[in-house]
Amino acid sequence: MNEYDSNRLYDTVKKIGYEKTQNYEDANCYLLNTCHIRDKAKEKVYHEIGRVKKIFRSKQKPLVIIAGCVAQAENQEMLKREPYIDLVIGPQSYHKINDTILNHIEKRKKIEETEFDAVSKFQYLSKIKNESGKVSSFLTIQEGCDKFCHFCVVPYTRGPEYSRPFNQIIDEAKYLADNGTKEIILLGQNVNAYDNEGYKLSNLIMEIEKLTQIKRIRYTTSHPKDMTDDLIEVYGVSKKLMPLVHLPVQSGSDKVLKLMNRKHVIKDYLKIYERLKKINSTVEFSSDFIIAYPGEDKNAFESTLNLIKKIKFINSFSFIFSPRPGTVASNLKLIERKVSLERLELVQKELFNYQLEKNRSLKNKVINVLVENKTKKSIKFFGRSEYMTPVIFDGNDEDVGKIIKVKITNSNQNTLFGERVEKLNLRVA
Ligand code: SAM
Ligand code: SF4
Repeated sequence: MNEYDSNRLYDTVKKIGYEKTQNYEDANCYLLNTCHIRDKAKEKVYHEIGRVKKIFRSKQKPLVIIAGCVAQAENQEMLKREPYIDLVIGPQSYHKINDTILNHIEKRKKIEETEFDAVSKFQYLSKIKNESGKVSSFLTIQEGCDKFCHFCVVPYTRGPEYSRPFNQIIDEAKYLADNGTKEIILLGQNVNAYDNEGYKLSNLIMEIEKLTQIKRIRYTTSHPKDMTDDLIEVYGVSKKLMPLVHLPVQSGSDKVLKLMNRKHVIKDYLKIYERLKKINSTVEFSSDFIIAYPGEDKNAFESTLNLIKKIKFINSFSFIFSPRPGTVASNLKLIERKVSLERLELVQKELFNYQLEKNRSLKNKVINVLVENKTKKSIKFFGRSEYMTPVIFDGNDEDVGKIIKVKITNSNQNTLFGERVEKLNLRVA
């Protein structure tokens, strides 16, 4: 979502004359978009500002803007602690960025904008074209969260759950499709909680499916509690919804899920898994795990390993619990660091094994790849499989934006390597 936000911030500041630069030294405005989901985020920001200060020591100071969730969480504090920062803008106030910049330039006043105003933000942004121009583009449909898991800052930094109007999203999808996008990734902190006057995520998927230029649809990040029947059924009818379901479970233990205030149990999760597999046997799962959450005893940890063995997630994120200021879990007694690290290692070993296994099983198979671009400094091309796995292969410039057949010749944990099938045929001829 930060990538989407950064692009939209750029689309916005372009209106008052700013252009991106690859060189720090050329900049007269420095805009840092920040994430607050795990620890050290705040310190990273001050560290980065220290770096900028050094670069501009003998030059004119740029306008320094901190955006994103660290800005939201720290607000006034940032302006007090680091006078080099000029403006602080929270994620629901991006629509005010141009006025804030112009106001600052005119009055030389430090400004903090951290109100939650998602409705106005998206109304404003809908008038500014999404110029991503990428083969695979993000599209935010929902923001914020009302679930208040005890470990999570999102309800505090992104505010209450908000779903963008259905037509506003379809208009943005059409604009992206008309401008080169072939894959749309629908975004939200709780994307499957999307509900706008009765329109659900399943309706959005089926509506976007009608856009002929769009070849693939994905969504992230979803919550097990909102995996409703209509969404599950879409996997049986949609031709464009990709078969990778990213469904964070966090822990394999009901006891820990309760301590986390997750509002789902493992039985619910397994039911979703079984129903989806029945509707579409090609569906695979990926997930998020929080390891060593306070209260995770040996048995609870074993339950997480057992769940991984059962589902065989093919691509997942796993992190040690990181206490976040202001959340219910912020003051709980932490599990010893050594034990936490050992558990993380065990979980990752198990997860990476399935990832490797899945990739190896594709050797000599021909898969569909949506080609995104040429790799940097190389003649190879980059695309993704239906399961989001990066694929590097020998291709042609004309392949970009197309779904082509690639024969997989090799792989590692994260990447598949292959050759374009038509090219192979030519060689045989
Ligand atoms: N809404 C999704 C859900 O409920 O499953 C997850 C969205 S959250 C923004 C992204 C991921 O960050 C979570 O799934 C969780 O694994 C991780 N995360 C959030 N807070 C964390 C914390 N305090 N420590 C470690 N990981 C955390
Ligand atoms: Fe955070 Fe997801 Fe829980 Fe909401 S549901 S509080 S975004 S982890």
